[in-house]
Amino acid sequence: MATINSHYNKLAAGYLFPEIARRTQAFLEANPGVEVMRLGIGDTTEPLTPAVVAGLHRGVDQLADVETYTGYGDYEGTTELREALVTRYAGYGVTLDPSEIFVSDGAKPDSANIQSIFGLENVVAVQDPAYPVYVDSNVIVGRTGVCVDGQYDGLVYMSCTEENGFFPDLPEGKVDLIYLCNPNNPTGAVATKAQLRKFVDYAREHKAVVIFDAAYCAYISDPDLPRSIYEVDGAGECAIEINSFSKDIGFTGVRLGWSVVPVGLVVEGTKPGRVNALWMRRQSTMFNGASNIVQEGALAAFTEAGKRECQDTVDYYMENARRIRTALETMRIRVYGGVHAPYLWMATPRGMGSWDFFDQLLAEAHVVGTPGAGFGPGGEGYFRLSAFGHHEDVARAVESIQQNLQL
Ligand SMILES: *Cc1c(COP(=O)(O)O)cnc(C)c1O
Repeated sequence: MATINSHYNKLAAGYLFPEIARRTQAFLEANPGVEVMRLGIGDTTEPLTPAVVAGLHRGVDQLADVETYTGYGDYEGTTELREALVTRYAGYGVTLDPSEIFVSDGAKPDSANIQSIFGLENVVAVQDPAYPVYVDSNVIVGRTGVCVDGQYDGLVYMSCTEENGFFPDLPEGKVDLIYLCNPNNPTGAVATKAQLRKFVDYAREHKAVVIFDAAYCAYISDPDLPRSIYEVDGAGECAIEINSFSKDIGFTGVRLGWSVVPVGLVVEGTKPGRVNALWMRRQSTMFNGASNIVQEGALAAFTEAGKRECQDTVDYYMENARRIRTALETMRIRVYGGVHAPYLWMATPRGMGSWDFFDQLLAEAHVVGTPGAGFGPGGEGYFRLSAFGHHEDVARAVESIQQNLQL
């Protein structure tokens, strides 16, 4: 008799975005003809840039010719792309070897899968609030108990609050795997090198591993802020970095990311190289390599034209962030983020529940956002607004909030 993986039963009911879709749909049915504006889902809206499109076309053309046709590629990605990434890291002052880079179909799958190379007995710490995949992937494999009041037994929650600037304090006691997302989704907070150093020092002291999701690093505009955790000395011994082409070159639907597993990373009982080899083993067993066409497209983003164009797209979104932030500040709403990340994190008016505020914002301003509670109990009382969107759509949503939201 077949049975299911019953750990799935522990997942807290109702994934965030389906519930948002359900409430939005119900509102539209009750209010026919009303147009709803979206500042909600974290998805890119602007087209691929000409350089990247040309790269994708090149990838297709290579497959069209018997002389250049290729089938399966290397599990870890093309040498050219991994070398281009090594060069990018060198620009941050970080020395990596191409053998430490694993190209994948995205940062979300890598974030979900990376836990599989670690023992089930590892104690996991997550930021609260957090991007849901870090928690859910660990729940599914049985690394937690049941969910009580929004928190899973056995997980360590690192509170991100207004008081700590939404960057967590070190976990109390000993944990083994620490997920950090920086710049942060959902809070839009960004860490200084000194803040990251505290976690790197902790991880080295406790032989813990930091799993660092840097999917939004392209949104950091202050040259003094670290783009990579490897800018911190010693991180190569204790950190895995996960990254994505989704948010910087618009590949959310195209699909491409990478992870860095340094050869020098060691955990209890392993020699240098073992963790790197384990991730290679995992990928070569469960994954057949990223699309060759897509990797050719990404490579084009490393050319001078590609870099300039993709930066322009990031700047375009950040202009939205600036507009949203300015408007909310004018309304005397407490708002965070939106400076080095495409997300704004606002305190709900009068501390109201984040789903209640979702309903109010939809009813009064016809704007859809994302309730903070959907990212963990620490998100209650907050609300995420996304800077992805066309300028004119964001401008209309912002105007409607200013004119129609009753504070
Ligand atoms: C969007 C996002 C990603 C990107 O995931 P992909 O699978 O590469 O599209 C990763 N982490 C966070 C926190 C994100 O918001």
